[in-house]
Amino acid sequence: MEHNPTDNKDNKADRWNSELLKERLNLTLAFSKRYQMSAALCYLRLHLPLELSQNIDDEIEDTLASKILVRLKRTIRNIDTVVKINRTDFVILIADITEHDCQVISERILRSISDTYTIDFHHFSINSNMGICMFPYGAEAPEELQSIAKTAMYEAEEMGDNQFALYKGELNQAAHRKVLIENDLPYALKKGHLYVQYQPQYHLEKRTIEGVEALIRWNHPSLGDISPAEFIPYADDAGMSHSLFFWMFEEVCKQIQSETERNLKYSINLSVNQLLLSYFLPEITKLIGFYSVSTSQITLEITENIEVYTVKKVNDTLLSLKEMGFTLALDDFGNGYFSFSDFIKLPVDFIKLDRHFVSSLLKNKQHEGVISPIIQMAHNLGLQAIIEGIEDLTQFRVWKNLGCDIIQGYFISKPLTFEVLNDTIVEIETRVNESN
Ligand code: C2E
Ligand code: MG
Ligand code: MG
Repeated sequence: MEHNPTDNKDNKADRWNSELLKERLNLTLAFSKRYQMSAALCYLRLHLPLELSQNIDDEIEDTLASKILVRLKRTIRNIDTVVKINRTDFVILIADITEHDCQVISERILRSISDTYTIDFHHFSINSNMGICMFPYGAEAPEELQSIAKTAMYEAEEMGDNQFALYKGELNQAAHRKVLIENDLPYALKKGHLYVQYQPQYHLEKRTIEGVEALIRWNHPSLGDISPAEFIPYADDAGMSHSLFFWMFEEVCKQIQSETERNLKYSINLSVNQLLLSYFLPEITKLIGFYSVSTSQITLEITENIEVYTVKKVNDTLLSLKEMGFTLALDDFGNGYFSFSDFIKLPVDFIKLDRHFVSSLLKNKQHEGVISPIIQMAHNLGLQAIIEGIEDLTQFRVWKNLGCDIIQGYFISKPLTFEVLNDTIVEIETRVNESN
């Protein structure tokens, strides 16, 4: 066989590149695993023009390859890697990326290289296709990521020039949504995709909007608004429930600091797990101090689902919170499995009757006979009762007559951004007062 010095040079370079790729890929995956981040492996194939693919001039091809590499590097960040693995194919590793951002970058990559190149008076038009496999849910093993991305690239080729395909696995739409939520949650906080809405709470006796409940919102770049009921359950697994709570707590502190007229009370939801954190009290003390916020303006809503074995520990923290001046509410009351003896030990100020009471009362008027004593019991224990999920005037009147103290629900107002709340709070109050 004839010895070809160019082949030899190319083989060496390819081997070196494949080693580099292996090393970078392992590093990226180890890093992503360690910090629970996502990564993408993109397999890019160039469609070289005929004169080049027939290998007329190696030098021109080398120049073209280096021009393409320069363009590729310009479209990615310096923590990402691009490796040329043979004459036409490149692998691009993108670290710390969401699926949505990866699609944005992919479009950018294809746009940046699919162009006309002029080399030594030759003009070439280059088209390309790319396949993408995401770590961890597309695949976890390095070889698998690459082979899946390559298969996706063939799919993209079928779609036409300059298209990319992202492998979504065997997942159906619902499963893919779950994967995206789980995967992207850590990025939501970093990228500022979370925001807060405030839902007014109307005090029947004082005839004022006395407080608001702060409710977290996630505006996902491809899925749109996602309800906390859908994503909060993933927060624990993603190790984020604490950071979400402290983020929310800080947002509320900022709001209180900026709002001087009304002295609204702000309710913040938290899970029992936060109460068990050793740094919970020091951290909120720090935030309160930093924003010079009075604890009397903050209510902490804990859900009723406190496991019995944690009651004692939780109780100590709750007592400290009360001493600090916070108001405490037991959320979703009637939805959990509390024993009465555990319940009366908790130093709470409010019970928030779960929304299902509203719907069950609609179906069966006799339920009044159960609800009324619950509210009575709360009052006898020196607590106040809030009902949430009141959607119309009839329900408003029923629950007022049942002796509730505070009403929350769409009838008063849907959750609003702070700006809208500020602009409409007087209007809301006037309208509700007319019914009360
Ligand atoms: P929750 O604390 O019981 O909040 C009340 C939920 O009922 C809110 O849903 C609110 O928008 C909804 N709602 C209020 N009035 C009505 C009504 O009249 N009709 C109907 N159909 N719904 C009404 P959202 O905002 O989707 O929150 C769902 C749950 O997510 C909350 O239930 C709370 O458990 C949790 N959550 C929200 N924000 C946070 C947060 O910052 N941290 C934690 N840990 N959980 C949060
Ligand atoms: Mg709540
Ligand atoms: Mg609730």
